[in-house]
Amino acid sequence: MSEQHKWSARTLAAQALGRIDEATRGLVPPLHVTTTFLRDPDNGYSSGYVYGRPDNATVREGEQVLGALEGAAATLLFGSGMSAAIALFLSLGPGAHIVAPRAMYWALRNWLAAEAPAFGLEVTSCDAEDLEALRAAVRPGLTRLVWLETPSNPLWGVSDIAGAAEIAHDAGALLGVDSTCATPVFTRPIALGADVVMHSATKYLNGHSDVIAGALCFAREDEVCARARKVRAGHGMILGPFEAFLLIRGLRTLDLRVRAASANAMALALRLSNHASVAAVLYPGLAFHAGHDVARRQMRGGFGGMLSIRVRAGEAAAIATAARVKLWKRATSLGGVESLIEHRASVEGPGSPCPPDLLRLSAGVEDVEDLWVDIDQALRG
Ligand code: PLP
Repeated sequence: MSEQHKWSARTLAAQALGRIDEATRGLVPPLHVTTTFLRDPDNGYSSGYVYGRPDNATVREGEQVLGALEGAAATLLFGSGMSAAIALFLSLGPGAHIVAPRAMYWALRNWLAAEAPAFGLEVTSCDAEDLEALRAAVRPGLTRLVWLETPSNPLWGVSDIAGAAEIAHDAGALLGVDSTCATPVFTRPIALGADVVMHSATKYLNGHSDVIAGALCFAREDEVCARARKVRAGHGMILGPFEAFLLIRGLRTLDLRVRAASANAMALALRLSNHASVAAVLYPGLAFHAGHDVARRQMRGGFGGMLSIRVRAGEAAAIATAARVKLWKRATSLGGVESLIEHRASVEGPGSPCPPDLLRLSAGVEDVEDLWVDIDQALRG
């Protein structure tokens, strides 16, 4: 093997960067739960740790693993995806203008519309899948952040990260990307020009529906990164050590889980496209999907585990379909090993671009034939 050979992301994650515990030679590093640290006799803190609200050793380990996967210069873990995104928005400071997509995770869209103005942030929404619309929404010299979510929840539209980065940078703004559903297995936004990548680590990164967590991965250890670190410490937004420990364990199998879920989603999307009870399948892997060409360019190796279907007979039939599943779990969230189905409009409420006949499917890693048989019988009624 040549000395230049670099371990792949899959290898790095499987071994959590290959760290061992120096004290015991254990392959799994210990869980650090202490909230406070002994001062040195000279009054210093030679370990670099002072208190648990700004920092924690297990959290730092998780940050290093995710940072390696995203190619980030600095990574911060948070107590949720929402707190990660909001910490970034707050770190821009009052007076900042943000451009955000119309179609994006509903709770974050609601926060930007209802709460952000109280913090002095001005938000313009646009169709972020259309680069011309994005260019028109940006105010050169005033916009501080262009925000994308791709593929976007729950319509699975695709935004062009490299194109948006050029528009944002020309205007003097940063580009932030919610890459929760693409995951670093399929898309590395920093390599495409993004300045910050955000994850709801609750989803694929942890992958077992037992941790709420979030992350910001920065292309550079710059002023915005330093501000976000301060916001996290000041607002007490850091991830807990137990959750960080579970997240590191989940990350070890990220590559396998995400590829299996994506293969299942692709197979189901193709079969559902021919189902008599389905009016439309929304999945970027399908050749006729509006974002397919961009997705093929920026998603390497798969299109993700998320898809939606529109039920031909309308809203009541969609809700009845979700009521009939036996294997799929009728629950919110996504990105776990178990497959989930959800009538999304019931969650998102008024103002959502989600049509009332839409069912959101999070493909898990089960046997795809079992998933097909169950959704097929539920759709037939
Ligand atoms: N971004 C996306 C795409 C999501 O799906 C979610 C949650 O569903 C979030 C952000 C928010 O993450 P969390 O629930 O971890 O706060």
